[in-house]
Order: sequence, then structure tokens, then C-alpha cells
Amino acid sequence: MSFRNFKMVSYVVYGRGSFNQLDEILAPHRKGDAPMIFLLDHFFEGKPLAGRVPLRGKDQLIFADVTYEPKTTQVDALANQLKEKFGTVSGIIGIGGGSVMDLAKAVSLMMNNPGSSADYQGWDLVKHAGVYKVGIPTLSGTGAEVSRTTVLTGPTRKLGMNSDFTPFDQIVLDPELTKDAPANQRFYTGMDCYIHCIESLEGTYLNEFSKSYGEKALQLCQDIYVKRSGWDETCDDKLMMASYAGGMSIAYSQVGVAHAVSYGLSYLLGTKHGIGNCIVMNHLEEYYPAGVKEFKYMVEKNQIDIPAGICKGLTDEQFDAMINVSLGMKPLWENALGKDWEKQMTRDKLRALYEKL
Ligand code: NAD
Ligand code: ZN
Repeated sequence: MSFRNFKMVSYVVYGRGSFNQLDEILAPHRKGDAPMIFLLDHFFEGKPLAGRVPLRGKDQLIFADVTYEPKTTQVDALANQLKEKFGTVSGIIGIGGGSVMDLAKAVSLMMNNPGSSADYQGWDLVKHAGVYKVGIPTLSGTGAEVSRTTVLTGPTRKLGMNSDFTPFDQIVLDPELTKDAPANQRFYTGMDCYIHCIESLEGTYLNEFSKSYGEKALQLCQDIYVKRSGWDETCDDKLMMASYAGGMSIAYSQVGVAHAVSYGLSYLLGTKHGIGNCIVMNHLEEYYPAGVKEFKYMVEKNQIDIPAGICKGLTDEQFDAMINVSLGMKPLWENALGKDWEKQMTRDKLRALYEKL
């Protein structure tokens, strides 16, 4: 097929306090006494949100440890544990940042697919639909709530389970849930969205579908980070919709240089997605001059720290490992630089870029 037939999230509820509707939303999806499993970001352990999770019958609330971004081993362990205990479950509900979104999607898929999640890292390898799954973001920016992938670190690579079975059946977009996010974290994840917009809008894969969403998401980011000072409820409202629209934009195009380079950092050094993208974006004037200028302005205006010197002292082997991972992301480079990207982005040029970070 030459045109992508785009699988979307089936149901979306948006609004402050919409989390309170969760019990009602889940009710028709309960299958007999098979439980709903709530994966809640460990940040909320002991916090009021944990007490608001609408548990019924044998439902389970599991605090998801997202100290590290999700791994295939973590997904497999959770899915196996649930299969052993319950046989099957009615659904998986992920409540947290992008890491918990991805964990929930992957565990849902592994409830109905044999083997290890590592077997399905790639494109369209998942064979069966997962169990009913719901995503409820508590950080805005990644777009993981709308995407058809779940990014996992496996034994040999960091790669998503990209498939039509991956998107959520339902998302609950309640901006109230993001209000306690620390300023630095909120900025790094918010900038993931800003960078998605720049990479999509400046990319060669751009089309009107992606552009419509990308321009709106970019405008929302600029409203929050460029035009105003301070943070209030409307910023949370806007950033949640920016994340959604930014995710929709890249779903029908692709990300670019910042992501391709940041994947190398994440693979070798475990640098997290949001902060990794920011570290790279800081040095991409050559590729996105206007976007990088504005990015730097936002960093300064919002008084955010962007780490520097993270590649200092790395060995040749380590640089090579990052370069291999990065150059492996072919569609990202092609989107950013065009069909002859391999002539433009040589190993030496990429090494010089990593040395600056
Ligand atoms: P995250 O989910 O890794 O969370 C970062 C930190 O913030 C964690 O310590 C978490 O406990 C905490 N946190 C979450 N919500 C909070 C809140 N409301 N208040 C205070 N702290 C809170 O961060 P992220 O940037 O949202 O997600 C990054 C992850 O998303 C990576 O694993 C990345 O691979 C993935 N990702 C996935 C996609 C996709 O399409 N599937 C796209 C982009 C990124
Ligand atoms: Zn991203």
C-alpha cells in the first residue's frame, strides 16, 4: 500500500476532572470477574491520585517503577505475573508519563501474544490484539498517548513494537493530573513535543495531514514557553493538547535529527528521551536554525538546565556504538535530510556532533 492506513485511538475524553469518569468508562469493558490492572507511575505512591483509582473486585493497582525507561524484561515479567495469577484480565490501564504509557501498551499486547516482547520489536510483527488498554498521561509531550508504538529497550536494541494493535482503545486526557510535575521534567517532556513539531514541519515527509497538526502543536508550545511567563492551569491544558497534536503530526510523517542522535545517547548512556532530545537540539543550528534559536530562548526564559559535556571521555568504541544506533534510524535521517542523507551525514560528521554534546 502506498498510503498509510492510519490506526487511531478509538475513544478520547478530554477535560479537567475527566479522570473521575474512569469507573464509568471501564464498566462496559469488564469481562466477568476478570480484573482491571492499573499501572500507576511510582511517583504517585502515597499521593491522593492512588486513592482515586476506581478499584473493583479483584482489580489490582501496581506501582510502575520508571526509574529506567521500559525494558522488554520488565514487560515480560509483568505480563507473565498477571497470566499466572489471573489467567486473563479485563484490561490494562496505564497512568503516568510516557514510560508508563509504553509499559501499559506493551503489557496489554503481551497478555495475548506468545514469547517475549523482544520478539516483536520492529514493524508489524505483533500477531494478536492485546487486551483492552487505556492510557492516562500525567506528563504532556511525548505523544505516546496517540502513537502506534511502544518504545522498549531489549537485549540488543531500543526499538518500538510498532503495529496496528499498539494504539490505546481509550485515552483520558485530564490536564489536572500534570499539575505537580517538577519544572525541569515538565520542560524536557514538553520539549519532546516542540521537537516533534520542528522535525515534522522541517522534514521531507511533510504533508498537509502532518502539517495541520504540527502547526497547531507548535503554536500551543509557543503560547506556553515563548509568549508568556510563569505557569498556570491553562498551560497544562494547552500542553496536553500540544502533545496530542504533535503525536498526530509525527504519526503521519517522522521525527528527525534530534531523535536519531538522542537514540544513540539513550542506548549507550541511558539518557532519558526528553532530556536527551534537549541536549541534542541545543547543537542542531545547522539543521533547524529557527527552531534551535527559539529552543535556546525558551531554555533561558524558563530557566532550565540543559546538561553539557555528557560525551566527554568516551572511547572510540563507545562513539562507534552510538553512531551505529543513530545511523540505523534510516527513516528519521531520510525525513530530515532527504533521499541522499547518507552522503550528507557521514560517520565523521556524526562523531563530531556527538563530541559536542
Ligand atoms: P517518564 O514517563 O519517563 O517520567 C519521567 C519522570 O517523571 C519519572 O520519574 C516519573 O515518575 C515522573 N512523573 C510522571 N508524571 C509525573 C507527575 N505528574 N508529577 C511528577 N512526576 C511525574 O517521562 P516522559 O518524558 O513522559 O516519557 C519518556 C518515555 O516515553 C521514554 O521511555 C520514551 O521512550 C517514551 N516515548 C514514547 C513514545 C511513543 O510514541 N510510544 C514517544 C516518545 C517517548
Ligand atoms: Zn520524542
